[in-house]
Amino acid sequence: MNEKLRRLWEKRPLIISGPCSAETEEQVLETSRRLAATGRIDMLRAGIWKPRTKPGQFEGVGTKGLPWLLQAKKMTGLPTTVEVATAKHVQDALQFEVDVLWIGARTTVNPFSVQEVADALRGVDIPVLVKNPINPDLELWSGAIERLQKAGVQQIGMIHRGFSSYGNTEYRNAPMWHLPIEMKRRYPGMLLICDPSHISGNRILLQQVSQKSIDLDFGGLMIESHIDPDNAWSDAKQQITPERLDEILKALTWRRKDTTEAEFISALAHLREQINQVDDELLTLIGQRMKLADKIGIYKRENNITILQTNRWNDILERAYDKGEQLGLSKEFITRYFDAVHLESINHQNKIMND
Ligand code: PEP
Ligand code: MN
Repeated sequence: MNEKLRRLWEKRPLIISGPCSAETEEQVLETSRRLAATGRIDMLRAGIWKPRTKPGQFEGVGTKGLPWLLQAKKMTGLPTTVEVATAKHVQDALQFEVDVLWIGARTTVNPFSVQEVADALRGVDIPVLVKNPINPDLELWSGAIERLQKAGVQQIGMIHRGFSSYGNTEYRNAPMWHLPIEMKRRYPGMLLICDPSHISGNRILLQQVSQKSIDLDFGGLMIESHIDPDNAWSDAKQQITPERLDEILKALTWRRKDTTEAEFISALAHLREQINQVDDELLTLIGQRMKLADKIGIYKRENNITILQTNRWNDILERAYDKGEQLGLSKEFITRYFDAVHLESINHQNKIMND
């Protein structure tokens, strides 16, 4: 790794942007030129080989897009990064002087593919960013990192791009912030950046997801940008113009950590953020619990059964006392908590009975 790249690798925040996919030479060059003009971008990205969920979609321009990226790098002076999933991708990317490689979420889940990429990188001095796997499995994420480390890759970073879940949710990929935070704990000092584009899946959430990651002390951002986002060949809904990206980056509040006091404040902010996150998740789960209660309410109505079934409730409480004891939660708390939940649940079912 040359000195310039080494310095960049250490830079915080590290900002990476570029199109989801390289589409045409003109699109790559124009996007890169306008990104460089913002003066806020450290590295250019572009997908060359695109792993698409369904066949028949645009699967990337392939190797012919690599010279466009090389040209963009020469024109802007900015290093480049592309996603690789096979040994051939690695060879092609290296041949066209790509500076940093990244492993995509659909590859991190597959140890065969990660191993193939790792083997292709033996003896090669190039930094690699590893996206989290599609599913919330930290062992797969660390497993990919370990495979690269064992192959001798020296500079490894992580990209948090959220986790897939069934059904429609607010996010395209749920952030589950406590998971990347756990990775930071496991790999202190390792670069961790956030990809708000794939977490959000739309343009509206980009700002707040970016800010949240900064508040949680992420080391940078990877955000997709396009000269004509609405007509992008992949991920059109989440891409933004370089100028919009400039506005988003300008509006972010970057946390500083240069004094002990600042460190304390930021540590406190982290913990509070984590608490907020856990509270959000608890409320979401309680909401889901009520929806299940609603469904039971419907069955009870249809079968003419009473709402309150004392045996069932005793079972729930006994289970909760046992579990609570293991978790260090007092019996008094469990009782009060479940009373509140039970009451709400009964109210929900009452409403259904009377609907
Ligand atoms: C991408 O960065 O365009 C991409 C395919 O991302 P992910 O692997 O996170 O889905
Ligand atoms: Mn994309």
